[in-house]
Amino acid sequence: MTAVSAVSDVSSNPIVFLNDELVPLSEARVPVLDRGFIFGDGIYEVAPLYPHAGGGRTAFRFRQHLARLARSLDKIGIANPFDDAGWRELIDRVVAANEADAGLSANQDAIAYIQVTRGVAKRGHAFPAGIKPTVFVMVSPLHLPGEAQRAQGVRCVTAEDRRWLNCDIKSVSLLGNVLMAQYAAENDAFETIQFRDGVLTEGSSSNVWMVKDGALYAPPRSNKILEGIRYGLIEELASECGIRFEAREIAEAELRDADEIVVSSATKEVLPVTQLDGRPVGTGKPGAVFAALYAAYQRAKAKEAQEAQQGLENESRERITA
Ligand code: PLP
Repeated sequence: MTAVSAVSDVSSNPIVFLNDELVPLSEARVPVLDRGFIFGDGIYEVAPLYPHAGGGRTAFRFRQHLARLARSLDKIGIANPFDDAGWRELIDRVVAANEADAGLSANQDAIAYIQVTRGVAKRGHAFPAGIKPTVFVMVSPLHLPGEAQRAQGVRCVTAEDRRWLNCDIKSVSLLGNVLMAQYAAENDAFETIQFRDGVLTEGSSSNVWMVKDGALYAPPRSNKILEGIRYGLIEELASECGIRFEAREIAEAELRDADEIVVSSATKEVLPVTQLDGRPVGTGKPGAVFAALYAAYQRAKAKEAQEAQQGLENESRERITA
């Protein structure tokens, strides 16, 4: 069957997992009739892996990432190919293969990308019976935003949210998000913040937080946004910092009048937005709530790393040994 190469020209060539094999990315092939390719019929997940002093890696908030993966798969009727232990073991294998291959150094932050599509079948829209999901896992170095970006904040633009109404599903059908990311790129902005009918939803690849009079606000969990793994985390961090948090609808005019705006995602952690559509947000400088959340985020990472290092496992803290 004709196959699609995962990449044509990449400078790095990590070892990836595709179906039942570990292969170099340049050799990973998916049949063109894979429903992920033909229909965008699949789910993905992105989880940070932070090295800890014990020589392994903490898969930060991994239990929550795996729960979201399971939820998304369930919502589109794909059987989860692994249980949590199976996923952890698989990520461990990919990390170990890349460390052995020297593509990933032991002290480097990394990101695990997981994709599950419905599988390969004769083209037809409705679900085919009895096919095996395609599983792809890739681990890449993670380059977190630098000090300068945190100190200056980022510029964002805004646009109408034209995506479908199942944004809670972490689907690989990302065209709406891709167009919004491109809109940001064309406008020399970091991210596009979207409104649906005059109400804040989210960024093209981030959740959005508003600060007004010292309180923190975010759109409620719903089908209109992807619930980031940082959503629950930031709620916890706000409470730890004594910052009042409320999930409620945020009108476009309110966001434009915010004291601070913050965006969050696995690869950005938390970042201050200091300019929106060319106008300063609040003072035009990162604010105190951002600073408190960033510091609390780093403490949460350190705490999970320490627990992983000590080999402590419980419901909310998971351990990956690379
Ligand atoms: N919303 C969208 C549309 C995203 O793509 C992402 C992450 O990529 C997020 C929110 C934030 O999710 P997380 O915190 O799990 O990275």
